[in-house]
Amino acid sequence: MSQKRRSSSEISETFADHLEQHGVSRRGFLKFCSSMAAALALPAGSADVMAKALSAAKRPTVIWLSFQECTGCTESITRSHTPTIENLIFDFISLDYHHTLQVAAGHQAEEARDVAMKNAYGKYLLIVDGSIPTKDGGVYSTIAGRTNLNMLEEVAAGAAALISVGTCAAYGGLPMANPNPTGAVAVTDIVKDKPVMNIPGCPPIGLVMTSAIAHFLTFGRLPAMDDLGRPKAFYGDSIHDRCYRRTFYDQGLFAKAFDDEGARKGWCLYELGCKGPTTHNACATMKWNEGTSFPIESGHPCLGCSEPNFWDAGSFYEALSVPQGRVGETVLKAAAVGVGVGVAAAALNRSKKSAAVEGRETMTVEDLKKES
Ligand code: SF4
Ligand code: SF4
Repeated sequence: MSQKRRSSSEISETFADHLEQHGVSRRGFLKFCSSMAAALALPAGSADVMAKALSAAKRPTVIWLSFQECTGCTESITRSHTPTIENLIFDFISLDYHHTLQVAAGHQAEEARDVAMKNAYGKYLLIVDGSIPTKDGGVYSTIAGRTNLNMLEEVAAGAAALISVGTCAAYGGLPMANPNPTGAVAVTDIVKDKPVMNIPGCPPIGLVMTSAIAHFLTFGRLPAMDDLGRPKAFYGDSIHDRCYRRTFYDQGLFAKAFDDEGARKGWCLYELGCKGPTTHNACATMKWNEGTSFPIESGHPCLGCSEPNFWDAGSFYEALSVPQGRVGETVLKAAAVGVGVGVAAAALNRSKKSAAVEGRETMTVEDLKKES
C-alpha cells in the first residue's frame, strides 16, 4: 500500500506474476479462490473460473476517497482477518490514493491521485467512505482546498465503477442524521451515471469489502446486488435469519434486561431492542474479529447499522413494534394476526433467498459470468 510511483513492469504485472514473486504456491492460490468464491456464494465450479481470471488479471488502480467519516471503515478493512486476503488483494491492487494509508502527504498525495487517474482513466475502481456535504457549496469538508463534492465528481468521472464503503457513503449515515447541519448526502445522490455498489455497516465487515474487490478483479464488474445496491451474497439474509438465538425467539424466550436470567441463559434480545429482524448483513455468519463473535453473541442487540436511516430511526433499545424498511405488507398482516414481526420478516427473507439461489447448481460458467 505504499505510495511509490509504479514502474511500467509493475503496471503490466499479472496477479499470477505477483503471487509467484511473493512465494505463494499454486495450492495456496486455489485455496484463496475457493474461499473467495464461497464468501461470494458463487455456484460450484466458480473457484476455477476465479482462479483463471485472477491469474491473468492486471494490477488495477484503486483510488480511495475519504469524506465525512470516522476512519472506522479503513480500520475494519485493514483487519480483514485472513492474512492471505490482505496480502493477495491489498498488496496486489495499486491503492494509489488513500489518506490514512498512503505515505505521501500534501501536494505529493494530490499529484499521486492525478497521475493514477490519468494513467487508468475509465478503468480504475473508486472506493468512497464518508458522506458528502452539500450545504453552502460543500464547504464543510475540503481536501487540498477542494470540496468533497467537487473531488467526487471529478474522480467518479474517470472510474469504471464505485464502491461506497460504510453506511455514511452508502446512505448518509451519522453525518446525515437530523438536523444534518452539513447537508450530507450519499454517493448515489451525486453519482448517477456509474455502477455503484453499497457495502453498508458502521463499519462494514472487512472480508465483505475484500471479497467485493476480488469479484471486481475476477469479472471486471461488481457482483449481483439487491434493491439497495448491496451485494446479495452478504446482505441477502437478515441477521435474524441466521442468528443462533433464533430458537429462543421461536420459543418466545426473551431477555427482559441485560442482567436478568434470560440474558444469562442467552435468550433472544428482541425485547431489548434487537433490530436483527429488519437488518441485512453478514454479521451472524461471518462474524467479527477473526470470526470470533458478533454483537448479539456478546449480549448486545443489533442496532441496524447497515440499513438506511440508521441513527434517525433511533429506538436502539426499544423492541421493534412497527415493521420497518423493506419488510413490508406480509409482516403487517402477520403482526395483525398475532405472529411475531421477526418470524414473518425472516420467512419473507428466506423465501426471497431461496428464489435467488434456485437453480444455481446447474449454472454454467457463462451463466455465472452473466449473473455476476
Ligand atoms: S431478535 Fe435479534 S437476538 Fe433475537 S433471534 Fe432475532 S436477531 Fe437474534
Ligand atoms: S450486529 Fe447489527 S448493528 Fe451490529 S454490526 Fe452487525 S448489522 Fe451492525
